[in-house]
Amino acid sequence: MSSDAELKARFDYSKRAGKVDWHVHSYRSDGLDSPTELVRLAKEAGLEEIALTDHDTIAGIEEAQRAGEQSGITVVPGVELNTREMFNDLEASVHILGLGIDPRSPRLIEALGRLATHREEHMTSAVEKLQELGYKITLDEVRTYTKGTLGRPALARALLKRKVNRVRMRQAFSLVKSPKVSDVFTYLISRGKPAYQNVRPAMTIQHAIQLIRDANGLPVLSHPLICESNAGIRQIDEAKLRQYVKEGLGGIELYYYYRIVPYSRLARKRWLALAKELDLACTGGGDYHGKGSKGLAGHLLGKIPYP
Ligand code: AMP
Ligand code: FE
Ligand code: FE
Ligand code: ZN
Repeated sequence: MSSDAELKARFDYSKRAGKVDWHVHSYRSDGLDSPTELVRLAKEAGLEEIALTDHDTIAGIEEAQRAGEQSGITVVPGVELNTREMFNDLEASVHILGLGIDPRSPRLIEALGRLATHREEHMTSAVEKLQELGYKITLDEVRTYTKGTLGRPALARALLKRKVNRVRMRQAFSLVKSPKVSDVFTYLISRGKPAYQNVRPAMTIQHAIQLIRDANGLPVLSHPLICESNAGIRQIDEAKLRQYVKEGLGGIELYYYYRIVPYSRLARKRWLALAKELDLACTGGGDYHGKGSKGLAGHLLGKIPYP
């Protein structure tokens, strides 16, 4: 069991820059690669270590660790939890990474089971809503696009598979080109869009932090300043961050795969100072979802801008 200080030192990206990637997705959630393939890619990229952080599941960890042992890559057991948070009256999804968790934690396993049920319910209603809008899609089709948690990228891919759906989207939204995954998000399935059911239950940030602490992991705010709300992308501000730290947050993912504001150098300097003041680990992750995951999150393993 590691102390808070040990965990924070363990996940300080500045000591391992260029050698580690602590935020990677496999096909156990919405990534495209198997856990074994991720380890192979990590080796190819010259990394020493990756953290497998699939959305709301730990199903890929065992396989990744086995592959890691064979090829000399350390695989940190991780998870990325979906939480619900209010920004005044605005509901938003905030992602919390758990780094170095014990995947045998009974409370964590139980909570992940409940999240899987929530995802199932949410996906069922999203599919129904798309059908009402005239799209041809079934839940079984969505399932064929994932070997793990049911997430919206699988929904988007299943929708785009059928030509009638692509044609319908082009007409409905006056698109010049054939729609991509990102278009499905923009027009149909992001928070606040027609096929996003606002009933989606999720745990609170406090609960996610507790679960990760309970599993002896470090709770880290993913891509810290970005989250999805009913009115588009929002930023987490300093006041919120201070509140999360009081609740047990141990780090922020300051080094991330892209450099838009608030990930500009200048903005990062300010957040770095704040992290120091609040005794937070500054972690680094590429949010890799697979090479062909165009329009999804990261597609470069271990390529994390630093400093
Ligand atoms: P879900 O797990 O169903 O909430 O889906 C969230 C996942 O969808 C994120 O982790 C990203 O991988 C992906 N995603 C979110 N927003 C977008 C977007 N605007 N375009 C493409 N992919 C997105
Ligand atoms: Fe994702
Ligand atoms: Fe995320
Ligand atoms: Zn992620």
